[in-house]
Amino acid sequence: MISRILVTGGAGFLGSYLCERLVSMGHDVICLDNFFTSQKSNVTHLLSEPNFELIRHDVTLPIFLEVDQIYNLACPAAPGHYQFNPIKTIKTSVLGSINMLGVAKRCGARILQASTSEIYGDPEVHPQVESYRGSVNPLGIRACYDEGKRVAETLFMDYHRSNHVDVRIVRIFNTYGPRMHPYDGRVVSNFIRQALADEEITIFGDGSQTRSFCYRDDLVNAIIAMMNNEQRFIGPVNIGNPVEFTIRELAEQVIELAGSKSQLVFRPLPDDDPTRRRPDITLAKKELGWEPKIPLRDGLKQTIDWFKSINLSDYRPPTPNYS
Ligand code: NAD
Ligand code: UDP
Repeated sequence: MISRILVTGGAGFLGSYLCERLVSMGHDVICLDNFFTSQKSNVTHLLSEPNFELIRHDVTLPIFLEVDQIYNLACPAAPGHYQFNPIKTIKTSVLGSINMLGVAKRCGARILQASTSEIYGDPEVHPQVESYRGSVNPLGIRACYDEGKRVAETLFMDYHRSNHVDVRIVRIFNTYGPRMHPYDGRVVSNFIRQALADEEITIFGDGSQTRSFCYRDDLVNAIIAMMNNEQRFIGPVNIGNPVEFTIRELAEQVIELAGSKSQLVFRPLPDDDPTRRRPDITLAKKELGWEPKIPLRDGLKQTIDWFKSINLSDYRPPTPNYS
């Protein structure tokens, strides 16, 4: 069945690929974005499609639309981006969720929240299971993002309990792939950009901290499956790749795959940087029949090829985490 689907943050890294997939499935897709961390070029190839529409709008302001499903992805996701204007970041999660939940309530639409592994903070439980309540520093520099996303989850559950809004919550772990903003300061984009230019690879701390990297296509498959599951399974559910790497191992793989001459350099670890992160995806396997298929090596090759194909001067200037 064809649905009218709103994707907030639809011009971003994940949102633009999600729009592409939904358009190819024949749905009527409205992409809403204020282009804070993205640019129109991520979706210009969709503008000629009759079932695609682009709206420049900020989710912190109300909007009236008639839709059947909403994917709420609007929010800066990279530390350098979300720390640039922390008050705006928390407004985006909180006011943006209230506005989009309002649209869902009025239209009777199903709404999915792109939550994050950051709601676990610097986790004492490893790997992270959905029942773990997390260890977030509410006063720290990551709190604008982490606490904003935690409040968003609370709002989703309260609209569900109080107003019967049909909600879905996915907790996304580090995801990478083509169309990441090359200057977003995230580890994969920094390392690939640095490796391709034979520049020093900046490891924050000693590189022993871990992350688990999920390829974009695997992630988008999971969120589409979560939106459309009719089992009344609302989540929250972890979505990520459970294979864990140290940041140093990631750097070494990127250097090898890019055929780079880059050397490693060590820089101070940012405050509150989580020491380890790996999703337990038992719930996603059981409820959605989903698990990631693309190993890091294959995904990195695709991402490196994409970085080789772009012109860096088409992207906006460096963010604070850029080096
Ligand atoms: P992204 O920065 O590329 O995309 C976010 C999009 O939201 C951008 O296009 C940006 O311009 C838009 N946006 C930001 N503030 C807005 C506002 N106030 N109004 C309208 N649009 C706004 O990041 P991404 O990696 O594609 O992340 C998408 C979503 O997934 C985010 O909500 C993020 O928190 C979540 N997530 C991503 C990851 C990841 O590793 N990529 C991990 C966890 C959660
Ligand atoms: N990191 C790094 N060098 C960089 C960028 C990031 O060593 O140039 C580290 C960062 O300190 C963190 C990990 O890589 O430990 C992942 O950082 P990212 O910003 O991609 O995402 P996070 O998972 O921290 O939100």
